[in-house]
Amino acid sequence: MDSVATDLNSPVEKYTFEGHSFFLKRDDLLHPDFSGNKARKFYYYLHNDFPHITTLVSYGSAQSNAMYSLSVLAKMKGWRFEYYVDHVAEYLKANPHGNYQAALANGMQLHEASCDKQIFGDDTLFLEEGGRQKEAEFGIQKLAEEIQAWQKTASLDRVNIFLPAGTGTTALFLQKHLPNCTVYTTPCVGDEEYLKQQFSMLEANENNHPRILSMDKKHHFGKLYKENYTIWLKLQQQTGVVFDLLYDPLGWRVLLSYPELFLKPLLYIHQGGVLGNESMLSRYERKYKDNV
Ligand SMILES: *Cc1c(COP(=O)(O)O)cnc(C)c1O
Repeated sequence: MDSVATDLNSPVEKYTFEGHSFFLKRDDLLHPDFSGNKARKFYYYLHNDFPHITTLVSYGSAQSNAMYSLSVLAKMKGWRFEYYVDHVAEYLKANPHGNYQAALANGMQLHEASCDKQIFGDDTLFLEEGGRQKEAEFGIQKLAEEIQAWQKTASLDRVNIFLPAGTGTTALFLQKHLPNCTVYTTPCVGDEEYLKQQFSMLEANENNHPRILSMDKKHHFGKLYKENYTIWLKLQQQTGVVFDLLYDPLGWRVLLSYPELFLKPLLYIHQGGVLGNESMLSRYERKYKDNV
């Protein structure tokens, strides 16, 4: 799998949605197993050698995209993968699917317990939830360089970039390495204040921070919203591309409410996560099947 380390690169394609044409950076197509922004954030660990490491440890939710990508990374590296969760829903244990099933198939050792960093030795690499670490900059800088190369070929000097944020790590490092572009994002997990704090933890200079756009209404991460399901279906109908169901629906709702962003060429970053759709989709279908 070593060749993967130098080969990560994704295409940019052109689409139209609700009358707006836009470019799409297809990081969902980065690699069959290692894709999306988690692949960018963990690229540092894939690319470098860690001869003393035998075990990778992390924690978070039992459905997360980061968990799945780490299981792939560990497999590629020949590391054990120990993952800590607070709780696994009974229905998920009984019907394993999506990221959870795929990570287990990759050999993930799952612990329903809290994770105590102190117990791990020098042979263990510990990563924070969701890939929130400064090493993420390495892979996101590479993403920025691919975007710059595309801009050059397409003769597009100034571009508006949009991507929805969780921890905001991807948006932040993109803005830092694309000074000619304006990066716009929207908080999907916390509120605007939370996202600003995240940015400041990684980068003191506020000139390097992305612009935050928000909806007026409060939005809860992982909750089912009919508007999210509807826009996700429309995206698929109009572009033929499958977007993620947790972040992209909110991202697109916010983006469409700022049509002035399309006055410049707009590049939307597809951050992967499609494997995680399975669980959201079955919940949506059960709830809205007969009245979309
Ligand atoms: C993790 C993830 C995000 C959020 O990325 P951050 O760098 O934490 O902002 C957005 N979209 C998808 C599909 C993800 O998996």
